[in-house]
Amino acid sequence: MKYILIIGDGMADDPTEKLGGKTPLEVVSKPNMDRLAAEGELGSVNNCPKELPAGSDTAILSIFGCDPRKCYTGRAPLEAAAQGVSLQPGDVAYRCNMASLEEGDMPFEARRILSHSSGGIDGELSKRLVEDLFADPEFAALAAKARAEVHPTLTYRHIVLQHGGDTTGLTLTPPHDHLTEVCGPHLPRGGSAGPVLRELMEASFRFLSAHPINVRRRAKGLLPANCIWFWAEGTAAALPSFEAAYRKKGAVISAVPLCHGIGALIGLDRITVPGATGEKDTNYLGKGQAAVKALLEDGYDFVGVHVEAPDECSHNGDTEGKLKAIEDIDKFVLGEILCKMTGEDYRILILSDHKTLTDTRGHAHGYVPYILYDSRVKAGSGLAYTEANGLLGPHVEDGVALMGMLFRE
Ligand SMILES: [Zn+2]
Repeated sequence: MKYILIIGDGMADDPTEKLGGKTPLEVVSKPNMDRLAAEGELGSVNNCPKELPAGSDTAILSIFGCDPRKCYTGRAPLEAAAQGVSLQPGDVAYRCNMASLEEGDMPFEARRILSHSSGGIDGELSKRLVEDLFADPEFAALAAKARAEVHPTLTYRHIVLQHGGDTTGLTLTPPHDHLTEVCGPHLPRGGSAGPVLRELMEASFRFLSAHPINVRRRAKGLLPANCIWFWAEGTAAALPSFEAAYRKKGAVISAVPLCHGIGALIGLDRITVPGATGEKDTNYLGKGQAAVKALLEDGYDFVGVHVEAPDECSHNGDTEGKLKAIEDIDKFVLGEILCKMTGEDYRILILSDHKTLTDTRGHAHGYVPYILYDSRVKAGSGLAYTEANGLLGPHVEDGVALMGMLFRE
């Protein structure tokens, strides 16, 4: 018996005028998801406890059976684990985005946030820029004073570790929730860390704006990666062992550090797929093929496949991209798995981790639809996979129950 999880990040949504009062799941062509929903259990689940921020970090912890109310200490420590960076007592990890702020002669705090990802900057360039920044003598002196060190990744999502950090009274803001707004009100503030982090961001703007890579980007009409943006702060996280909890040997396939980090902390093996980007141009088929290989050739009982693209498109205001991403998940990830798993006994759980709204470009709390399908059973809801149809089925109050439901005999 094999077990499969597919998370379409941020697929779920609310009806929008952009789609004639419908949701993306209601308008896209997704024959595989709709068949499994009709032949399986179609319900709704709440993965983001209302007392915690709505987002992939709390939602994916729930989905993998870790109660975020007990073990959530912030997003960055989870991402740091993906790089093999473990936090010592007293350490604080921060997500460090390569962001784009408005340029021109104006005070730093008057600059608008143009992009949380510098327009999806190439990973190699992003890494070079942040390494050059932390090597710059003026900036390095400030970083040393703050006891901050950078752990670059090949994406716009870097990690900064602060030894002896203190987040008491600190307020940080996700840049993707305030795109096009003036940055002043959203800069780090409060506690002892607020002013220090803000000073580092302002210094990064001075250095990065003049960096040759950004001079070339501007010349090509691309957004300059001219500011590091701190958010998602957290301290060391201790998560329960997946194998101990479910007696299953498992692996996770994702392009984003968050999912690989959670996988690392709960003891799942991490599978990377060439060409998996975390953006809408990711290698969907490669992810489907890697899942099948993990189950049928490499002996795993369980594989979790996470696809970031729908969430990223939502944040970028790219509705067409979101629709295409969902269709590609259905066709190339799920389609490949269903085709190659023909004749095998398996149970599969398909869901969105949380809603990412087309209208606000931000995350939202609330129920999201799930499909629980068993290849041995053909009796199901008879309905297509949508938010509204999911609400007609079982309501799972707490996403922490999902893994138990998937492994239920
Ligand atoms: Zn998400």
